[in-house]
Order: sequence, then structure tokens, then C-alpha cells
Amino acid sequence: DPDTGLDPLEFAVTRNLAAKSPVQRAEILANPGFGMSFTDHMVDICWSVRGGWHRPRVSPYGPISLDPAAAVLHYGQEVFEGIKAYRHADGSIHTFRPDQNARRMQRSARRLALPELPVLYFVQSLRELIALDGDWVPSGEDQSLYLRPFMFAKEAFLGVRPAHKVAYYLIASPAGAYFKGGVQPVSIWLSEDYARAGRGGTGAAKTGGNYAASLLPQSEAYEHECDQVVFLDEKRNVEELGGMNIVFVYKDGTLVTPESPSILEGITRDSILQLARDRGHTVQGRAISLDEWREGVASGDITEVFACGTAAVVTPIGTLKGSDFIDQQPTGSLALELRQELTDIQYGRAEDRHNWLVRL
Ligand code: PMP
Repeated sequence: DPDTGLDPLEFAVTRNLAAKSPVQRAEILANPGFGMSFTDHMVDICWSVRGGWHRPRVSPYGPISLDPAAAVLHYGQEVFEGIKAYRHADGSIHTFRPDQNARRMQRSARRLALPELPVLYFVQSLRELIALDGDWVPSGEDQSLYLRPFMFAKEAFLGVRPAHKVAYYLIASPAGAYFKGGVQPVSIWLSEDYARAGRGGTGAAKTGGNYAASLLPQSEAYEHECDQVVFLDEKRNVEELGGMNIVFVYKDGTLVTPESPSILEGITRDSILQLARDRGHTVQGRAISLDEWREGVASGDITEVFACGTAAVVTPIGTLKGSDFIDQQPTGSLALELRQELTDIQYGRAEDRHNWLVRL
């Protein structure tokens, strides 16, 4: 590797002799849903204080054995990522900005006192899995293979300190179109009682605990017939949704997105904002309060609000609901145009002018 001087890992490959048949696979790919079915193989790499990264493997997908005292089960020392593989019309398989996910996993790992997996090994793990499970990348419209890298403390020790033994895994799950029958605006519940993250906390890291903390407010959103929840910080500035970043479009063409040390820096958001800049839009990362949002919508200064993330790409926000108000959100065309532009790049239908695609 020219940047780090690291040699690539040599993965030991054990093929799955009980792999799904082409017919079984085709049945799953015809209607994959999200996160329900998994491919035939998985990757893992061990890490220890003494040995560093070692024993890279590709093996049959299946249950992993863990000591009941494994630190992750007690103290949640864990990080993960989410990234997709896309099939192009010529059959080739590509992923999108994997270096960005690799670096974000390193930042998450640092915050959780886990070791940083080199970018080279991260990208290698994607290639190794696709080499065996490439047939699992669906070719239907808006379908993809969702890749889930994750890392956790597996040392059997109940002392509260960074684990001396860690495992990195990669699994993959075919994903259908998020919206069947066209992109639908989502309704958002304003969570007033719960925060997702606090100052100095783990909000910027992709770690399981943040998602555990979002489950109760998300159930509250469902109880109020909303699809998603939006979180505020202690100053009542807008942060993000449970699993997506938020972007506001202003009348003068400026795009504003919350900048805060306690939100996850989305790679979809970064890419969408780049495409907007390419079109001549001004982009601002800054604090935006709930009041600015509601007043901007009321006055017509805000012309569109959308959410973005790997799973749903770009989703217009249709309504914001609080305990004592419902604000209808304005709908424009920019969110859907940017969504189209991004997915055209991801699926190889448009020129990849920023060199975001990596062929696997
Ligand atoms: N915020 C949160 C809390 C998320 O879980 C995600 C999904 N990873 C995002 C934002 C969007 O990030 P990305 O565009 O990289 O998927």
C-alpha cells in the first residue's frame, strides 16, 4: 500500500459447502427486503494487543461463538459501518467511496477505544467477500448488496477497560428498493424527551449504543404515526434523524445542514452536498435551531427539507410533528434531482466525475 507501507493480507478461504442454490438465491433476490437474508460467506480478522491484525479469513456464513464474558456483551464496545455494492448494466460490481467508510470506522473505533482497521484491509475485506458472493449483488432497479462491517471487543474479561482481543467481521445482505412504487415523503416525530447524543458523548461514532438509545424515541414516533424521529441538542438545535442526516434548502438556493460534534458525518450527505455545489448551490454546515426551521417553513424561506443516508439515499420530509403542532413541509424538486444524480453515478448510468466508485 503506497500510503501506509502495509502489505495486503492473505485471507484463508473456506468455501461454504451448504451454499444456497442458484434457485434459492434467485428467490431471495426477487424480494430481498432489508437486512433479513445473508450471503453464503463472511469475513473476519482478529486483533490482539500482542499480535495486531491477524488470521484473516473468509468462511461460511453462520453463528459465531463468543465467551459469555466477552466485553461487548457487557459494555457495548462495538462499532459498525454500512455501505453498498451496486451492479452495473454490464454486470460489473462497484462500491461507493469505501475509503470514507473505512476512515469513519477508524474514527468510531478511536472513540470506542478499539483498534483502527487500516483502510487497505477494510477495502480488501469487501473484495474478498464479493469474490465469493458476487452473485448475491442483485440487478433489479434500486437494489443493492448491503455490506455490514463491524468490530467488537471479544476478550472474556469483566474489568472496564479497552479489550485486549477484538474481532472485525464483514457480512452482507441483499437489499431491495427502499421505496416501492416511487419515493414517498416521510413524516418526522420531534423527540423532546430523549436525546440521541450529548456533549462529549459518542454521537459522532457509529456504535451500537447510539442506536439502542434511539429505539424508544423511535417507538414513540410510531405511536404518533410518524416514520422517523428527529433529535435536538441541548440548545434546541436540530441534529439528525435516527439513521439519516438532515438538509434544509433555502429560497436563495443555499443548502444548510447541521454541523455539530455529536452527529454522524454521513457519506451520502457529503456526496449530495458536493453534487449541489457542482450545480452552483452554496452549502453551509452550521447550527440550525428548531425555531429557525419552523419559522423558515412558515415564511417560505425554507423551500425543501430532506433526509439522506446509505439505506434510503435521499428522502423528502413531508411533515414535522411535535406534541402540540404539525408542520406541513414544503416540497420542491431539488432533493429528488440530487437523488437521481447520485444513484445514476452509483449504478453506472452517469459519469463518475469525482472518482467515487471502486470496482470490486
Ligand atoms: N446518521 C446516522 C445516525 C446514521 O446511522 C446514518 C447511516 N449510516 C447516517 C446519518 C447517514 O450516513 P451515511 O450517509 O454514511 O449512510
